[in-house]
Amino acid sequence: MIKDEYKLSNKLQIIQWCAYDPEFKANAIDKGFKSWISKGITTYYSLTEKGQFKSFNRLKEDCDLDRTDFFRFLQVRSRFEHIRKETDLNDPISKIFIDAYQRKSNKGVIARIYKGLLSKKSHNTDYVRTKWEREGNLLISEEDWLHICQSQWKCTSSHSLREFGWKCMVRFFITPKQKAHFTGGEATCWRQCGHREANHWHIFWGCPLVESFWAELHKVLSGLFNTNLPMQFSTLFLGIFDLQVRKADEYLFDILITAGKKALTRRWLLPDPPTTQEWISIVNDIYLMERITSSPPSKKSHLLKGGPSGLNMPVLIRQKYGMGDLTMLLLTFILFF
Ligand SMILES: [Zn+2]
Repeated sequence: MIKDEYKLSNKLQIIQWCAYDPEFKANAIDKGFKSWISKGITTYYSLTEKGQFKSFNRLKEDCDLDRTDFFRFLQVRSRFEHIRKETDLNDPISKIFIDAYQRKSNKGVIARIYKGLLSKKSHNTDYVRTKWEREGNLLISEEDWLHICQSQWKCTSSHSLREFGWKCMVRFFITPKQKAHFTGGEATCWRQCGHREANHWHIFWGCPLVESFWAELHKVLSGLFNTNLPMQFSTLFLGIFDLQVRKADEYLFDILITAGKKALTRRWLLPDPPTTQEWISIVNDIYLMERITSSPPSKKSHLLKGGPSGLNMPVLIRQKYGMGDLTMLLLTFILFF
């Protein structure tokens, strides 16, 4: 599983045993390679010295090979040349295994494996995209996925909020399904909707008990941006939507949907779904945080300067929710829009 998830198969071929390599066709007709094991020839790496394939004479001396082994030597060398092209000997994971074969110290090996795997994850989040696609039965293009990843680091000046956006995207929060996988219990939704496969997509979007929360948000955002936003996960959760307006709108849109996700995680493990009022209160908190963290206000902080073009957010929200609950938010937007 780890080999597949981190695409290590090719990189680890050099530490595969020659006699048991299913891709090495000579094995199918010649059992002679198995007899080499008793002579100390195990992995392809064991046939090398300082990264170079040993000569036949050298192998004769080191491993007691016979003249009749010469043809096998040519076959295995040809296979090695193919593998060598795929191998990065400095790859952190390959290096751990190679060190082990060289009987080097295995001190801190767990930390090294973890660090090595993490370094791979930071460069490739495709496995996360695949999980969202599978759970939500949707398609996310590479271009959209890149945009989603980038917007987590662009949407705010606050480090904690950026980190939060990233955590939602990479599925950091533990769901009943994950818990059940480790503890063997049931993966039932904690909102008691009766769903027994409560994965990330269900908790964040698919659960019938969060439907009205997202529907309300959809209504507010569609009015706010004066456009008919698609009522779908990829728009309101992942933020895939081309507003076709100025950058400030995109920025505000990202902030508002991040606040929506925050409202959901604040009610993690709780039976009641979040409310629109909670969402508004989080938008206020973010606004305050933006003011504090962008001092002096950066050019990026459009929230401090303006909002979606051609709309009147204070009036829109005042009509909908009443002034009392929104004093802070209204003041904010009245002052800066
Ligand atoms: Zn549910």
